Amino acid sequence: MKVHIEGSAITFDERGYHAFLRGQGITDAQIDRLTVSLLLPHPAIHRIERRWGAYFRTTCTIEVYLWDDAALTERLNHTLLHETRHFIQDCQGNGDHTQEWSLPYHKRPYEIDARSFADQHSPHCVFLDVADIAVVHEKCKERLHTWWTVRAL
Ligand SMILES: [Zn+2]
Repeated sequence: MKVHIEGSAITFDERGYHAFLRGQGITDAQIDRLTVSLLLPHPAIHRIERRWGAYFRTTCTIEVYLWDDAALTERLNHTLLHETRHFIQDCQGNGDHTQEWSLPYHKRPYEIDARSFADQHSPHCVFLDVADIAVVHEKCKERLHTWWTVRAL
């Protein structure tokens, strides 16, 4: 597993997360392929909507976005678990959801599955911790300011 954390305000319990994945039946070889990235919001993803996270099958990458939100720790963990479920679906050979794309987002079975997985595990599985909320807030403001300034030109 590769881990990329933008900025230093977040801590990630990598060992705990690895053990959790093993507990879900994911093999070490599958875990090796996974990248977890904790990123500030960026225009490529957030030009249109305020997303909390994403899973990219082609690169086997989970991205969780660091918005300056009041319930940040809770939100980050819930998002990580949600995207982790998409990774698990992928590992189990159930990662191709193209046939469900015609359904509204909230009615897609693989999204319902990911939401209930995150709801089920988030009360006792906390892998991400915000060490300094002020740093996240500052960096996020900086990033969004730069983005909007650039867009306005
Ligand atoms: Zn999802």
